[in-house]
Order: sequence, then C-alpha cells, then structure tokens
Amino acid sequence: MKWISTRGKSKPLTFSEAILEGLAPDGGLFVPEYFSNIQWQQWNEQLTYQDIAYHVILPFLLGDRLEAELKDMCKIAFNFPVKLKTLTNRVSILELFHGQTAAFKDFGARFLAECMVRNNHEKKEILILAATSGDTGGAVAAAFHQKPNIKVGIFFPRGKVSKRQEKQLTCWGENIFSFSVNGTFDDCQKLVKEAFTIAKFKDQFHLTTSNSINIGRLLPQIVYYFYSSIEFYRQHSSKPNIIIPTGNAGNATAAFWAKMMGAPIDHIILAVNENKVIPDYLTTGNWKPKQSLTTLANAMDVGNPSNMERLIHLFNHYKESYDWVSAYSVSDDEIRQTIINTKNECNEIICPHTAVAMTIYKRCLSNKPAIVVSTAHPAKFENIVEPLIHQSILIPPTLNDLLELPSKCTEIEPLLDYVNF
Ligand SMILES: *Cc1c(COP(=O)(O)O)cnc(C)c1O
Repeated sequence: MKWISTRGKSKPLTFSEAILEGLAPDGGLFVPEYFSNIQWQQWNEQLTYQDIAYHVILPFLLGDRLEAELKDMCKIAFNFPVKLKTLTNRVSILELFHGQTAAFKDFGARFLAECMVRNNHEKKEILILAATSGDTGGAVAAAFHQKPNIKVGIFFPRGKVSKRQEKQLTCWGENIFSFSVNGTFDDCQKLVKEAFTIAKFKDQFHLTTSNSINIGRLLPQIVYYFYSSIEFYRQHSSKPNIIIPTGNAGNATAAFWAKMMGAPIDHIILAVNENKVIPDYLTTGNWKPKQSLTTLANAMDVGNPSNMERLIHLFNHYKESYDWVSAYSVSDDEIRQTIINTKNECNEIICPHTAVAMTIYKRCLSNKPAIVVSTAHPAKFENIVEPLIHQSILIPPTLNDLLELPSKCTEIEPLLDYVNF
C-alpha cells in the first residue's frame, strides 16, 4: 500500500515515510492509493477493540516495515475503553473520552507515538513541535511522555486556555517542554513554523509536527467507526447515521474512510458550530475558508479546516461518497439549550462539542437510527456546563490524577531566543 498526495505531484510513499513527512512535499495531504474492503460480517463477535483495530489498520500498512509490529502497537495504544451508550431506542452516544486526557485526541496521539517510537531509524532524536489552543497539545504530551529518543515542544497562548487544559499541557516534564507564550494561538503557530528554519534545531533533531493532518493520527480514528457501527448494526439490524462534531474534519474523514471500507454506516453528518465553511461549501460548491469565530465549542473554532482537502479529493474520486454527506451549523444558544435538555430528558451530561452534534440529531434526524459522537468529557469544560445544569461534574480519575501534578513551564515572549530542548 502506498500513500499518494491529494495534489498528485509527489512521489507515493510508504506509511512509515509518510508519517515522518507529515505533509506531502507538494503541499498536499497523504491519502491511501485505494481502500480495502473489510469482511467484518465474518468476524467472531468476541473480537476485542484491539483485535478490530488490527484488522482495520492492517490493509493500510501492508508491505510497510511497521506491519509486523501492528498487533503490539494496537495493544499499547488502545489501552482504554470505548463505550457505545444507548440513549433511546434509536440513538446511541459513542463516548471517545475515556483516555488519559479525556478527549478523542488520545486515540490519534497514542497511535502516532507508537509509530514514531518504532520508526526512528536515524541517529538524530525526533523533536515534535506543537502549537495548541487546547486539546491536541495535552493528548500529544501525554502520549509521548517518557518515550525514548523523542522530545516534544508545546507552545500555548498564556491565559487563553482553560485552567484544566493548561494543567494537561504543563504537568509532564522530562522529555516534554511546555512554553507559555505571551501572545495568541497564531503567534504560537508562527513560532513552530519558524523553528523549522532555525539551524540549532534542524541540525540536532529530526523535526516534525503532530497536527491532525498526520495519517498516523487519522488511521486509529477509523477503528471506532467500525467498532460502533457494527455494534449498533448487531443491536438494531439497521445501519446508523453518524453525527460528528467537526472542526478540522479529521474525525469526519476517518468516518468516510470507514464507510469506503464497508463499515455499516448510513449517512455521515458533519455538525459544526458558527464556523460554517463546510455547510456553505456543500450548498454553494465553492470552497471559501474564513477567519475563525470564537464559540462555546472551542476545539471546533476552525475557519479553514485542514482535512477538507482530503474530503474534497474523496468526493472527486469516488463520486458516490458525495451522496453520503450533509453538514449543519449550530449557534451558541442552541449549544446551551441542548446541554440543558439532554440533562433533563436523558439524565446525560454532555460537553459543548457533543452538544453541537446532539442539536443536529434533534433538528434533522429525529427518529432515525443514529450514533452521536461524543468527543470530550464534560468535566474538561466545567466552566460552561456546570452553570447550565446547576450541578458539579464528577472528574474522571485519569484526568484528576493529572490535575494533581505540579506544573512546569517556561514563560516566553513570542520569540525563539530562549527556547531550548
Ligand atoms: C479536536 C476536537 C474536535 C474537532 O475534531 P476534528 O477532527 O478537528 O474535526 C471536536 N471536539 C473536540 C472535543 C475536539 O478536541
């Protein structure tokens, strides 16, 4: 299996090569040369999540030097539960927040870490640089903490992440270096880009980033769409519609790839906040990135979703896939109302991102079989959720353990002069 660029001007690479590159040399994103069909109907019902992960990811690694290690990688990366919770007789919630940092980013970050550790055949250490406005940096730090021959630099805007998010970015030490930047998220991104051009970093390290365009983060996200749609299909004898809280559309791309490979999924519905470039594109056919707006679902505040290039490539090359998609936008007022209603009607506390998807279920899909994807634990957004439901949220033990560790970080101006690893 080779990985090709969406822009078609780079030479096809193996999986191992593509994860070290991140972005294709022509500026495009890596996509698989073809999609294998998974014969899940023949699976034994006792397969574990890790077994399913192995079967789903294997076709993408055929012939790669990591193929022989995939079983071990799945065992180590997916060491936490995935829960499909029945909400009513038509709708289930897919809880993806039982990992260490309580958001679905743990799946991608942990699998990428297993890839990188085994893929480091150069003499140089790997240095992973990440600018973060919230969840990604914490998941990457947790996943790479204490991994040999790898260092991680995290840049976050001081005072612009929540207290609990900041703790997840700064509680690690050892090979994780956290920088609290006196600036904005854009300043942090600029620092990361600039670092790639600076000799003292380039000479010493193999530099790379860990953002959601890396296929090492995307592949593990396909697995939970297989797992949950098969489970739903076995329970209900009907294919679920999948409603996905969407920002950069990495999670949505993984759902499309799962359906391409035969997962029993009906439609795929992209639920966005007031950043509505994706629904606008589907109604007008024009792709028009915008400045991002700040909303209550801040991990989805994206005006130029990077993975849309992969989805548009899919729509162009596999015309049928265009018929599977729809996208809708939700306001902050609706997010608040849905958090309250879901608590009152179903006794379920959901995070603002999950509430975006739940709003779309109520508005557009009532009474159709559906899986609502839940991307984060509500305790990460207690400042928004608790005042609405007038109740404090129990913190999951894994998250609580992190919150009790001391913080270590370096405060910097938006300059690389004082940055060392
Ligand atoms: C990152 C994130 C999203 C958006 O996922 P994409 O793959 O970027 O579309 C949604 N919810 C939460 C909680 C996130 O952290």
